[in-house]
Amino acid sequence: MSDSEIILKGIAGSPGICIGKAYLVDKEGVDVVEKYYIGDNELEAEINRFKAAVKKAIDELATIIDDTPDEFRQHTHILETHKVLLQDKLLYGRTIDIIKTDRVNAEWALKKTISIVRPMFENIENDYLRDRAEDIIHVSDRVLNSLVGADGVNIAKIDKRVVLVAPDLSPAETSQIQLERIMGFVTDHGGKASHTCIIARTLEIPAVFGLERAMRTIRNDDIIIVDGSAGIVVINPSDHTLIDAEDRRERYENFKAVIARQSHLPAETTDGIRLKVMGNIELPEEVVAVRDRGGEGIGLYRTEFQYLNRIDFPAESVLYENYKDVIDVVPDQPVTIRTLDINGDKAVSYISPEDEDNPALGLRAIRYCLQRPEIFKTQLRAILRAAVHGDVRILFPMIASVEEVREAKRLLMEAADCLDKEGIAFKADMPIGVMMEVPSAVITADLIAKEVDFFSIGTNDLIQYTLAIDRGNRHVAHMYQALHPAILRMLKRVADVGREAGIQTYMCGEMAGDPRMVPILLGLGLDELSMNPQAIPAAKRMVRALNLSDAKEFLDAALQMKTVAAIESLLEDSYGEALAAALYTPNGND
Ligand code: PEP
Ligand code: MG
Repeated sequence: MSDSEIILKGIAGSPGICIGKAYLVDKEGVDVVEKYYIGDNELEAEINRFKAAVKKAIDELATIIDDTPDEFRQHTHILETHKVLLQDKLLYGRTIDIIKTDRVNAEWALKKTISIVRPMFENIENDYLRDRAEDIIHVSDRVLNSLVGADGVNIAKIDKRVVLVAPDLSPAETSQIQLERIMGFVTDHGGKASHTCIIARTLEIPAVFGLERAMRTIRNDDIIIVDGSAGIVVINPSDHTLIDAEDRRERYENFKAVIARQSHLPAETTDGIRLKVMGNIELPEEVVAVRDRGGEGIGLYRTEFQYLNRIDFPAESVLYENYKDVIDVVPDQPVTIRTLDINGDKAVSYISPEDEDNPALGLRAIRYCLQRPEIFKTQLRAILRAAVHGDVRILFPMIASVEEVREAKRLLMEAADCLDKEGIAFKADMPIGVMMEVPSAVITADLIAKEVDFFSIGTNDLIQYTLAIDRGNRHVAHMYQALHPAILRMLKRVADVGREAGIQTYMCGEMAGDPRMVPILLGLGLDELSMNPQAIPAAKRMVRALNLSDAKEFLDAALQMKTVAAIESLLEDSYGEALAAALYTPNGND
């Protein structure tokens, strides 16, 4: 391949620009394996290296199994299977044979074995045996990690300042990213509203998704430019392109610094209406970023991240400490703790059903929790206990019916009764809210409003479920449109119903953090907006540039429009200048 400049266009995942060396991570989370030949005199050492890696993998599995508390023992059978597989002739014996006969390194020999053995399992009719193909991948990953000198998912172990290039990254993997090591990342899959993308924005790492050809085109150590604002990746940039990118990077950083300096000013319109702007977090430590960027509390704490990257469920005491850690940073501000929104694209190895063809429509969030009340109640107890320390609200995700709200509230009261009987301090008198993110909930919002204290509109899912567009699918990413007339009508309905019912209406989906949407959100009369911490300064700045009566008129006009294009052009005509001043544009303002 020549070293001339190549430009790939993808989805602008997380804003910002970085320039760095590419570091390829293959599908199984391990470096792309290189092939090299082994001399006769090194053959025995290479075989021993492989045997040592297998032994290490077996020891690791044994430790995990031994350390698993008795109540979770039933989950370890899968690891026992992996241990047996590691010693199996098919994998073990064959890999050693390949090292000997092909005179190749152990990693390569193992990869070759997998490529032969895996299809043998995949083609079997029996479901159980077919599933063993996945197990083979898991155990070979473990050995490969050991051979290449990395433990577990190696994203957390990367020790160079690099730009990560991967086919895809799960939210669990992304949340392990070490900020001081990873400058940016690019993937072949993924859509703008995926959780991986949301985490990149929270981490403030430039990212471009859905590139399709990145893994095929980029090589390890290539210099690449990631322009997460424009959704462009440049491979082997020319000197001219590099200078230009460096210049734009600097302008972007300056722009960020300017708006960050103003972030503690209130979000008050020119006609004196004040909007509360809060932050969304995934991990307790992110609460500091919310506070530092001028957020006025936590509008969404996605608690499921405490359940990822583990082999079992976290204990009540661990959850309680996590929640308290967040509350302690903002003791006088609201902290909205959303109960477990697991599954969907946030699959968890020890929980998620393996046989869901459509996980987004499956046993996700409240559905899972209501089916597993003992797991749900552990979390509810932790929230009730933490609520003693601050201004806590509880939020139920993916509510689709009144029954679900009632059942969730019943379990909350049951958890409170247990704490009461045990003499443990708790606070049950806290605002209870539901995510408005499923169309059936929006349509029955008047019924649901009678059961709760607030609505929080989750546009990420509401757009996905209303428009039937998978939020993580790059093929339909261009149709994932917040300005679709159907979405505007949904939002209007929730805001109107909330107002009529006398309850608060908030928004915590990514739409809330897009400054271009602020005129619409103001016009709707929402009580609070909650967003990625990094989005707070620009959103507040935008609110300060607008006036409420104009925004209402604008929304009324937008609601008359029939197409996204018409709404966009109305937005541009009405607010183009204000937007240009509030937003960073790659070629424009400072
Ligand atoms: C949403 O759906 O808009 C939301 C805020 O929740 P999540 O992104 O975690 O699904
Ligand atoms: Mg959601």
